[in-house]
Amino acid sequence: MSTNFKFCPFCSHSLRWRKIDGRLRQACFRCGWIHYKNPLPVAVGVAVDKEGKILLVRRNVEPGKNKWALPGGFVEWEEDPQEACLRELREETKIEGEIAGLIGVYIQKTKRYGAILAIAYLVRVSKDRIFVNNELKEARFFRKKEIPYIPFSSHRRILKDVERLKSLEF
Ligand SMILES: [Zn+2]
Repeated sequence: MSTNFKFCPFCSHSLRWRKIDGRLRQACFRCGWIHYKNPLPVAVGVAVDKEGKILLVRRNVEPGKNKWALPGGFVEWEEDPQEACLRELREETKIEGEIAGLIGVYIQKTKRYGAILAIAYLVRVSKDRIFVNNELKEARFFRKKEIPYIPFSSHRRILKDVERLKSLEF
């Protein structure tokens, strides 16, 4: 999916490429609109139970259908990213959590959505029963050593950074 436009979304005039602020951008010569492209923010949670196990979800939708991933999703307009993280966790698994801290912020290129900015939080959860919604095949807690392959490079980096934070004993 291309993240470029054919026509100006405000006045429907055709767009041309121009170098603006050091980058080639699409611009409208009629109304002056410039297509500044920014990454899409996604909130991702590393949900940890009392035993230190990490929650992974097996996706039932593309991208990464049938593959394991960290729970998360797009931050809604004007939504606090921490709330987005907890909301996605709740919607996907019915698990309630508490934000324990920021792990980091990561950029990832994707075919479907262009650039994504993943904001990753450490979330403490008490182990309840898990009920997955229809976006997921299953969800379960894994010990560190048992964590299966995750196709999303940003999620792999997040899990590495969690280990780094733990070694600093935060
Ligand atoms: Zn225009």
